[in-house]
Amino acid sequence: MIKQIIFLITLLITLGVFGWTTRRIYSYIKLTKPFPIKDYGKRFALMMKVAIGQSKIFRFPFVGLLHALVFWGFLVILVGSIEMIIDGLFGTDRVLSFLGVFYDIITASGDVFALIIAIAILAFLFRRIFMHIKRFSGVEMEHKSHYDANIALTIILLLMLSLLGMNTYYLVLHSEHSVGCFPVSHLLSQYIVGGNNVYYWHEFYWWAHILLIFLFANILPYSKHFHVFMSVPNVFLSRLEPLGYLYNMPDITNEVKLMMDPNTAFSEPAEGGEEVSRFGVKDIEDVTWKNYLDSLTCTECGRCTSVCPANITGKKLSPRKIIMDVRARMKEKGPGLVKLGKDFDDRKALINDYISPEELWACTTCNACAQECPVNINHPSLIVDLRRYLVMEESAGPGELNATFTNIENNGAPWQFSPEDRMLWAEGLEVPIMSDKLAKEEKPEYLFWVGSAGAFDDRYKKVSREFVKILDYLKIDYAVLGTEETDSGDVARRAGNEMLFQMQAMMNIEILNGYEVKKIITCCPHDYNTLLNEYPDFDGNYEVIHHSQFLQRFIADGKISITDGAFKDKKITFHDPCYLGRANDEYKAPRDVLNAIPSTKVEMRRNKSFALCCGAGGGQMFKEAEKGDKEIFIERTEEAIETGADIICTACPFCMVMMTDGIKYKNKEEEMKNYDIAELVSMTIGL
Ligand code: SF4
Ligand code: SF4
Repeated sequence: MIKQIIFLITLLITLGVFGWTTRRIYSYIKLTKPFPIKDYGKRFALMMKVAIGQSKIFRFPFVGLLHALVFWGFLVILVGSIEMIIDGLFGTDRVLSFLGVFYDIITASGDVFALIIAIAILAFLFRRIFMHIKRFSGVEMEHKSHYDANIALTIILLLMLSLLGMNTYYLVLHSEHSVGCFPVSHLLSQYIVGGNNVYYWHEFYWWAHILLIFLFANILPYSKHFHVFMSVPNVFLSRLEPLGYLYNMPDITNEVKLMMDPNTAFSEPAEGGEEVSRFGVKDIEDVTWKNYLDSLTCTECGRCTSVCPANITGKKLSPRKIIMDVRARMKEKGPGLVKLGKDFDDRKALINDYISPEELWACTTCNACAQECPVNINHPSLIVDLRRYLVMEESAGPGELNATFTNIENNGAPWQFSPEDRMLWAEGLEVPIMSDKLAKEEKPEYLFWVGSAGAFDDRYKKVSREFVKILDYLKIDYAVLGTEETDSGDVARRAGNEMLFQMQAMMNIEILNGYEVKKIITCCPHDYNTLLNEYPDFDGNYEVIHHSQFLQRFIADGKISITDGAFKDKKITFHDPCYLGRANDEYKAPRDVLNAIPSTKVEMRRNKSFALCCGAGGGQMFKEAEKGDKEIFIERTEEAIETGADIICTACPFCMVMMTDGIKYKNKEEEMKNYDIAELVSMTIGL
């Protein structure tokens, strides 16, 4: 009875402290902005795959396996912990043993997992203390972070050792009539000599184990190991949209509609009836509750930072730091806001005092960080939200980007070209124009979306020309918008100018819908992503096809047959465009096309979802890169050169500019060429 009373008091203290912590976190969550959650079925599937199945952790197989075993072990051992709480409260002994064979399975797997977890934790501690793992360091990783991680790992190790100790002494104590199955402890028990002290050893380990659980539960919320609790719900609540999608800002939509047509604007200020006080994120009360939850879930593993092209090339940006800064800022400002309300001002902000504009402007929105994060945190969307504040509230974007915005606004393209010149790329070719088709009462099957780069960039104009030759060769019924086409708005949106993006989107959609366009083909993965994923928010719903997918389809149908051996002796490496690959999960189409071209194919060290960005996305193409050790395009070109390839094949206008510059920079113009996938196909079918 005394044991039960002591247990009850300990449990109540644990629950009390945990409840206090939870209440405090909830009070901070209430300070944040809404984030819509729907599609619970899809979320459940995602949670089973990413959180329970640990699918992202396995991207690095060895460490991934160790981590997954620890996680699965925890789930099994959790059942045993629940049993201990029931036993502690009611004075029972192994109360779940009535489950019979299931109990044997649970106890056996818990016992084996305890040993596996102990070994894995020793390996993790060894790596942290004795090996210099780059991703565990960084400006954001203060001494406290390492200390904190080592303490949590040590507690887990002690938890496992106490569990094995408890099971071992249980077997010795109840040698004749023990219940459950404990293979590891059974082996250990062979080395224990029975006697009076066995009972006390069993009690010691029992109490040590349960007290460590209680201690761990209350330490976790203050450490990076809070992810032990948070990772499953955080993955469940994470976004379901493709990585390339950026959330719409309904309040901006209202403003843009007002500007474009004062009669059509609606009066609700924002989703959920929220009063709009600020565009974008300046400080902690501007983030969504999901952003804050992400910051609490972050394991500080550094997987995001280790794949970030900006960080790899020595720029200040570290996606892990951005997430950790959200947590730190809430810790600093949250108590004041809770106490004094939203007028509380400590004269600091998330931007500038925690995250510098230099960090924000170094991001290429390549999504490598989001792809890698094991708890599905999406860094680029938060970075863009912070940029939105800088651009729309402070007009504090880099000068070159401001000039780009002006060009898009005035010329419908990021460069200083007249919109009237938008069809010059097609000179000498007979390219059908949508308005002419309409005049003849014809409705072409496809719209070829040329894109700003396809129409104005000197090198990419050649790709547009080759691609329309393929369309003609295939006798495709298509047309282009001609001078009615204007920039998709991709650059403006990712550079934080949501207002300009929405204006571009709405103008284009009005024209596309006016022509009743159903299917769009484009060579630009950025426009592909925007038209496919983002235009539907503004009633622009189309079947959008990237030209690599289009070519793949016609090669598979046998309508493009490549017999030419022009590249037979050449080695080709494919550079995955971020907005086709990670953003939209398309890795196969370009490879299928290349595989149809007689030649040798070689992959770069980082390929498919691991591919390194070329450095042009997120507006980078139109501005100077932030200070670092190296330009991203040079790093990527070096990787291509390492393969010994003769040709870097790209499938994106931005990648083409960067790779061509990289080849020039490395003085490899003689040995190495850069072609778009459409050019390779066009050359091999003799167009
Ligand atoms: S999106 Fe790319 S560049 Fe931006 S933080 Fe993530 S990994 Fe770095
Ligand atoms: S954001 Fe994700 S990948 Fe980055 S450190 Fe945190 S948990 Fe790891």
